[in-house]
Amino acid sequence: MTREELYQSIYTHDTIYLPPHEQTTAALEVSLGCSWHRCTFCDFAKDMFRIHPMERLEHDLKILAELRPEDTRLFFLGENAFCMDAGRILEIIGLTHRYMPKVREYAMYSRIDDILRKTDQELARLAGEGVQALHIGVESGSDSILEARNKGITSAQVIEALTRLDQVDIDYYLTIIPGLGGRTFSRLHAIETARMLNQVHPRNIWCLKLKLWEDTILYKEAQAGNFDEMTPAEILREERLLLENLTVTDCLFEDTTVLDQFTIQGALPGKKGELLGAIDYLLSLER
Ligand code: SF4
Repeated sequence: MTREELYQSIYTHDTIYLPPHEQTTAALEVSLGCSWHRCTFCDFAKDMFRIHPMERLEHDLKILAELRPEDTRLFFLGENAFCMDAGRILEIIGLTHRYMPKVREYAMYSRIDDILRKTDQELARLAGEGVQALHIGVESGSDSILEARNKGITSAQVIEALTRLDQVDIDYYLTIIPGLGGRTFSRLHAIETARMLNQVHPRNIWCLKLKLWEDTILYKEAQAGNFDEMTPAEILREERLLLENLTVTDCLFEDTTVLDQFTIQGALPGKKGELLGAIDYLLSLER
């Protein structure tokens, strides 16, 4: 088998989706689909949820070890791989030690409730065994928007879960969806999201502007006139309000979807002025 064929043999789909800061990290597919699968805007989770058996993981790890023998970090692939119980995650880390002994750090996607289901002792143990970063879609800090989009979490739960990660030194990278409240709740979305983010310590805030996918409930709501979709410029103005109100420190702020064609990126708080200036410049082009 060629190197390319070996890679293809260990992933279910041709394309694998890694967060921006994990693009070069080796990935082991530990699960498929999302255990929640109910957010009305999401078309990301298409597969039926399942956790792969250990036999498959052992087989895939042997191949990954051939392809990436020097790697020191591993991403556990799956829409919310952290939903696995702590024992299972530790078992997979143990298996990784056998085949990829240089791996010392692990990262994966998580939902907020996946964190809350684990005890402080379990989180500390996972951190001690190398779980270093979780990538989490929190989307909004507004409880009414979270509820309307069926996210299945509240802003208080987000703050509780992330504070517990702070206590065990697990880094977290958060995704926010500007535009998720629609035009009516745009201001609420920006202000409440800033309020929530200011109470936690994300390494990174990644804004991914709302895209209405045809196969989602939210798309149908918009078609029926029950969701007032915003224009890209309106969404950028909302994001400006969010950024203006952020007081987070030691955090990279980025948006790879600005006006559907630009990326902005800068460390907060130092680059806040420059980021706001870049947004103002891009908005001036829209007039
Ligand atoms: S938790 Fe994430 S992957 Fe799952 S349905 Fe919601 S947005 Fe999609």
